[in-house]
Amino acid sequence: MNTNLIIAAGVAAVFSVAHAAEPASMLPASNAFAKASTLPFGYPPFDQIKNEDYGPAFAEGMRVNAAEIEAIANNKQPATFENTIVAMEKAGQLLSRVSSVFGNLSGANTNDSFKALERELSPKLAAHSDAIRLNAKLYARIKSLYDKRAKLHLDAESLYVLERYNTDFVRAGAKLSNADKEKLKALNSELAQLSTSFAQNVLEEANASALIVDTREELAGMSDKAIDAAAADAAKRGLAGKFAIPVVNTTGQANLAVLTNRAVRERLMAASLARGSHGGKYDNTQVVLKTAKLRAEKAALLGYANYAAYSLEDQTAHTPEAVNKMLSEFARPAVANARKEGAEIQAVIDKENGGFQLAAHDWSFYSDKVRAERFNFDQNQLRPYFELNNVLTNGVFFAANKVYGLTFKERKDLPVYDPDVRVWDVFDADGKQLAIFIGDYYARSNKRGGAWMNAYVSQSKLMGTHPVIANHLNIPKPNAGEPTLLTYDELRTAFHEFGHALHGMFSDVNYPRCAGTRVPRDFVEFPSQVNEMWSVWPEVLSNYAKHYQTGEPMPQALLDKVIASKKFNEGYRTTEYLAASILDQKWHQLDASQIPADVLAFEAASLKAAGVDYAPVPPRYRTTYFSHVFAGGYSAGYYGYLWSEKLDADTVNWFTENGGMLRKNGDWFRKMLLSRGGSMDAMQMFRNFRGRDARIEPLLERRGLTEK
Ligand SMILES: [Zn+2]
Repeated sequence: MNTNLIIAAGVAAVFSVAHAAEPASMLPASNAFAKASTLPFGYPPFDQIKNEDYGPAFAEGMRVNAAEIEAIANNKQPATFENTIVAMEKAGQLLSRVSSVFGNLSGANTNDSFKALERELSPKLAAHSDAIRLNAKLYARIKSLYDKRAKLHLDAESLYVLERYNTDFVRAGAKLSNADKEKLKALNSELAQLSTSFAQNVLEEANASALIVDTREELAGMSDKAIDAAAADAAKRGLAGKFAIPVVNTTGQANLAVLTNRAVRERLMAASLARGSHGGKYDNTQVVLKTAKLRAEKAALLGYANYAAYSLEDQTAHTPEAVNKMLSEFARPAVANARKEGAEIQAVIDKENGGFQLAAHDWSFYSDKVRAERFNFDQNQLRPYFELNNVLTNGVFFAANKVYGLTFKERKDLPVYDPDVRVWDVFDADGKQLAIFIGDYYARSNKRGGAWMNAYVSQSKLMGTHPVIANHLNIPKPNAGEPTLLTYDELRTAFHEFGHALHGMFSDVNYPRCAGTRVPRDFVEFPSQVNEMWSVWPEVLSNYAKHYQTGEPMPQALLDKVIASKKFNEGYRTTEYLAASILDQKWHQLDASQIPADVLAFEAASLKAAGVDYAPVPPRYRTTYFSHVFAGGYSAGYYGYLWSEKLDADTVNWFTENGGMLRKNGDWFRKMLLSRGGSMDAMQMFRNFRGRDARIEPLLERRGLTEK
């Protein structure tokens, strides 16, 4: 295995971060956040940061930021772009320094002190943000600039930022009466606390609702090592001699594909589906009802029919009607497709004289068998060819080298918050350092589920900053000395998250407000989805898919099967996703008087009404563990994955039409799209790149939805 393949030969150009002037803080020098990091690119000094640094840094960060904002609002000089918008862009450096680290680590590496501080801080941060957005003097300055924007002779990005500021403030309530502003502040504070409670319940519930079984035999199908890990987990819970399997993230659980005992599969699926709704300490039903109600009240206060209408107005979809239309247009063919797949599974069950009807807990177990039969391979045959380090170096990074000319050099001298976290310098084609990339790939009990990207430092010419970007996955960590062999889904996720990373690293804008992934929610998944295309691009696949022991390339016949099976199980995948998206919309298209009393009954009725109540395919997330929507930033926005996939599929076609994996194609995509962050209208950006609006056909084709 040649890990040196794309390591940069040149010497790193040394950047010093040209920090914009920062007001003095009263933090003691012993606090790790007191000064800007002196590490390359402002990389966080993880080894210096103590748990007790966060609280004071937040308090002081908010105090300094509030003083900066007051100074801007009370400036005796008439408002100018420079003394108002630029001044605000430069403000809050201490606060953003501590927030970026705390926000990221509370997802990736939390502990009890983080959780307590999170509960304490969430209402305070909401109040801090409200104090700025609802500051009447400040808004008067912004509005005066906005009203005469055509006469200010601003460059295109500055003009766009000014428009964004005006929109952000209006949407945050700047035009409300004083009495309504007070109501809004109370709502925001309560919503922030609810969101924190929801996320913490989900994390606790993963362990609390673990499936416990009495005998090793019941776990037949799982590897010996996985069973040993389940035994160790049970012992830690004081259940020595038993076996524990935590229930994480989506409704589907990885072990459902391998457990041969149907009754155990049924129990595991039941435990997963019941998360957050079976009573007890971590039940989320009341949190959901309260959140839905307060969001509806907030929307009404701001003049919208419901929260979805409020939220979607500022997205590329614009209205609930547009989203409903897309979801309903996809629902019928997707469910029909899933039923067809279900019938194929039932045929296998019947052939084996199973004597039962396909249920949700059978799907992955039997769909693997159908796959094996149809394509003559099973998923496990692939894994020896998908070793993590090889996938990264010779797959993810290799593709970024071929398409964009990037090179990567791992460095071990920077501090990390967990020994498994890895760090790379990223160099542009001309040899200049572009970014620092952090890879945090393994699952931990103190890390939230799923996969995500974040920026510790965002690019901005105004601030003189260069990107420090991280990717997080949840790959089960193998025992010491064993290789990390990925499933196809994990592999694809590594490419996906790296697509977000590229969006952050290629950012070439002036203002922090526009950096990298600060684009509409229903646009942000587009660049990441595009990057998934390289995972099965023949030139890339043949470069990384090599046996971890022998180095032998994956046999061509197997490669062909992998590519041929791309549309396999798309009916299931699309239906489970649509069901979750529909739940998200249903909850957020209610007005405050329509909030139901029973979460699960409302959920069932919503799925039925939308025609996605096909029992073998439950929603990808049920309401009570749907963190994207009740704790993350995707409220009324989960549809965005499919919405942006239209742009993705059309972009994949563009690459293919233009010769595929070529630097000229990558450079064009980077120049017209990836480098521009949120510095202009997103759909205009797409048009500039593609030469026209996106077409829906490539997406229908990909999702297997063209046959009626
Ligand atoms: Zn993503």
